[in-house]
Amino acid sequence: MSKLFPLKGCVQPYAWGGSSFIADLIGYKGNEKTIAEYWLGAHANAPATISTPQGEKKLDAFLLENPLLHLGSYVQNNYKRLPYLFKVLDVKDMLSIQVHPTKKQAEVGFEEENKKGIAPDAATRNFKDDNHKPEIMVALSEFWLLHGFLPEVALLQVLKDNPEFSELISIFKSQGYKGLYQTVMEQPQEKCNKQLRPLIDRILPLYEAGKLDKSSPDFWAARAASSPKDSQTIDKGIYSIYFFNIIKANEGEAVFQDAGLPHAYLEGQNIELMANSDNVLRGGLTPKHIDIKALMEHVKFEATIPNIFSGDESNNGMEKIYRTPVKDFELSKIELPALQSYETQCETIEIILCIKGKVMLTEGGKQLTLEKGASALLTSGAHYKITSESAPQLFKASVPE
Ligand SMILES: [Zn+2]
Repeated sequence: MSKLFPLKGCVQPYAWGGSSFIADLIGYKGNEKTIAEYWLGAHANAPATISTPQGEKKLDAFLLENPLLHLGSYVQNNYKRLPYLFKVLDVKDMLSIQVHPTKKQAEVGFEEENKKGIAPDAATRNFKDDNHKPEIMVALSEFWLLHGFLPEVALLQVLKDNPEFSELISIFKSQGYKGLYQTVMEQPQEKCNKQLRPLIDRILPLYEAGKLDKSSPDFWAARAASSPKDSQTIDKGIYSIYFFNIIKANEGEAVFQDAGLPHAYLEGQNIELMANSDNVLRGGLTPKHIDIKALMEHVKFEATIPNIFSGDESNNGMEKIYRTPVKDFELSKIELPALQSYETQCETIEIILCIKGKVMLTEGGKQLTLEKGASALLTSGAHYKITSESAPQLFKASVPE
């Protein structure tokens, strides 16, 4: 039996998504107003579908039929699932400020919430599972995000440059990142409104006049404040916009976010690969549940020097591997010159998504053409070949050797 299968993912119509990017990419013709994400994975909420000689199957059910055969030796007895979740994102409106737990923290947190009897789907639930959720993204367009705390000197300068933050200077000097963040996250809403109102009133006219640059926190703070759910309440997430690095990844550039690093996607399209988990602790810019105490326990209070990287060349320059310290996944980009082919053996399970161009995939006597937006699944032991037919760009999700 061939180990190559055509694969179809699921669209997620979250309100923060764009209207056309994902539909255009995959040729989707649904009625959704917005499509935020396209999931290629085996998550029980939205499993992808594969075509087999016996008909269509949901990926989670297919893997459970014979985990060892499909997932390979990487998969230990205690983990019979796809180790990663592969996504395309189209971010039109900024996402919530968030942080993800370590594996250990997730195991402890999940167990505690189970003992307390908090329902798995309760809005107040912090831990949906017992896994960590490190993430790597590669930009498909100019992509903006908030990524970790600014270095000390830069953050101090921000506090000095904005008169509304003047009383925070001494707190940051004496109590560091944790004291500063705790002060603003624990302050009563009236205090937050009072502190941030003059700032919003100052920057909003500049934003509306198109005078702010995306590299400035003023731009994103004004954007957040100009779409209020309730104009009387100013979102505390606005502090984070000023305290965090604002970074831009250009097409093909990657950013990795490990446990404890606070972050938020602001705008653009990307490919994202993460561990198979849904554990998110939120810190603002969202109507969803925010648990300040849990947030404070999981944020690493330290400066982040952003590392925007382009991947290591492999396979005669045909592949770029975006390496991370994580064992659950590895993301790479494959670009083949005309008539060249890429041949490899698949140790565990791989998903290939074609972003542009056209290729022929061959495995065990089976052939499959992949064009823009199409994807394929290769199971453990597959020995496959990709042949370029017209200037292809593919992204591959796998597990590091
Ligand atoms: Zn995240």
